Amino acid sequence: MRALCAFLLPVLIAVALPAAGAEVFSGSRAMDLLRWQCALGPRTPGSEAHAVFRREVAAMADSLGWRLSEDRFSAITPLDGVEREFINLVISLGPSSGPRIWFGAHYDCRLVADQDPVAASRSLPVLGANDGASGTAVLLHLAELLTVTAPPLGVDLLLFDGEDQGVSGKPTTYCLGSEHLAAGAGTFGSPLSDAAPLGLIVVDMVGESGVRIPMEPLSLQYAGVWTRTVFERAGELGLGAFVPAPGRSTYDDHVPFLRRGIPAVDLIDFEYAAWHTADDSPENCSAASLEQVGTLLLDLVRRPPMGGF
Ligand SMILES: [Zn+2]
Repeated sequence: MRALCAFLLPVLIAVALPAAGAEVFSGSRAMDLLRWQCALGPRTPGSEAHAVFRREVAAMADSLGWRLSEDRFSAITPLDGVEREFINLVISLGPSSGPRIWFGAHYDCRLVADQDPVAASRSLPVLGANDGASGTAVLLHLAELLTVTAPPLGVDLLLFDGEDQGVSGKPTTYCLGSEHLAAGAGTFGSPLSDAAPLGLIVVDMVGESGVRIPMEPLSLQYAGVWTRTVFERAGELGLGAFVPAPGRSTYDDHVPFLRRGIPAVDLIDFEYAAWHTADDSPENCSAASLEQVGTLLLDLVRRPPMGGF
C-alpha cells in the first residue's frame, strides 16, 4: 500500500493546471480523479484507503494553497453497530468574508454491497466509483480550477464522511457526516464559518455513463427557488444530462441542511443498476457525465445566482 501511495501521489499533484482565463471543466481530469480514488480500494470509514484518501487530499491542499479543515466525531455505525470515528473534510476557497456558496459530496464507500445479486458478494465493501468517487472527483477538479482563477465569492467544498453506512430501508440512518456538519454550521469551531450560504448543491452518483439528473423532490419541496435556479442554469448552458422534471425522492446529504432552512439541492441519478453492488466500478462511469455536472458547478461559481432562495 505504501508503494502504491508513492506512485499515486504524483498523479494528483503533478497537475497541468490550465492557464487563467482558459478555464474549462475537464471531464477527463475528473475521471482520472475518480479512477485514483478507486485505485486506493473501497474508502470505507476506518479503513486504510479512507486514511490514504484524506492524506492525499491534505497533500493537494498543501500544494495548491487550499484551506482544508477536518470535522471529526464518533458515532455508532447504523449498518453494523460498531463505533467509529468519522471525518468530514471542508476545502475553503476564495474570499473568507462576504457571500458563500457550498458544494457537497460524500467520499465514504458503503461497508457492504448488500444489493448485489450474488449472495457471496453482499458482505464485500462497495468500490464506490459512482456512489462516492464521482461527486468527490467533480469537487476536487473544481477546486483545482478555482486555484488558477480565484472565485468571486467564498466557496466551501464539503466532503462528507458516513453518508452511506445506513440500514437498508431506513433512510434516516444514513448521512451521519452531513448531519454533524449541518448541526455545527456557523458555530465556534465549525469549518463552516457561515450558517447562511447562498445555497448548497450536493452531487452524488453523477458519474454513470449517460447520466440523467432529474429534479429531486425534497429539494423542490423545501428549496424550490434554489432548485429551479440551478436547473435553469443547466438549461441555459445546454447541459442535456439535467432534466427539469421531478425524479425520485432521495434522503441524501442535502436533507440535514434543508431541515435547518439552508437552500439545498441534491443532484443525483438514482437509476443506477450497480448501486450498492460489487459492480460499482469505473467501467460504469464516463468523463462526459462528470463534465456535464462540473461545467454546471463551475458556471454557478463564476456567475453566482444572488439572493432570495
Ligand atoms: Zn450509496
